Amino acid sequence: MEKKKQVIKRRTKKRRVCPFCLDKVDVLDYKDVSKYRRFITDRGKIVPKRNSGVCAKHQRMLAAAVKRARTICLIPFTVE
Ligand SMILES: [Zn+2]
Repeated sequence: MEKKKQVIKRRTKKRRVCPFCLDKVDVLDYKDVSKYRRFITDRGKIVPKRNSGVCAKHQRMLAAAVKRARTICLIPFTVE
């Protein structure tokens, strides 16, 4: 009996590079809302990294910055 070889097709998508890595951001300033404004949805949520292409390291930074900015009312917790 012949074994069927399963061919796993990988989508050859363009690899998305983290925009923060491109800018060589080491420290994300939470006061600089304009820098990460586009990683927050219009409802005030942080865009998941699978959608934004941000790497794990910068996603962590981003999340920390967003949370900090929320507590001092730079960005809203939720938008209704
Ligand atoms: Zn990055």
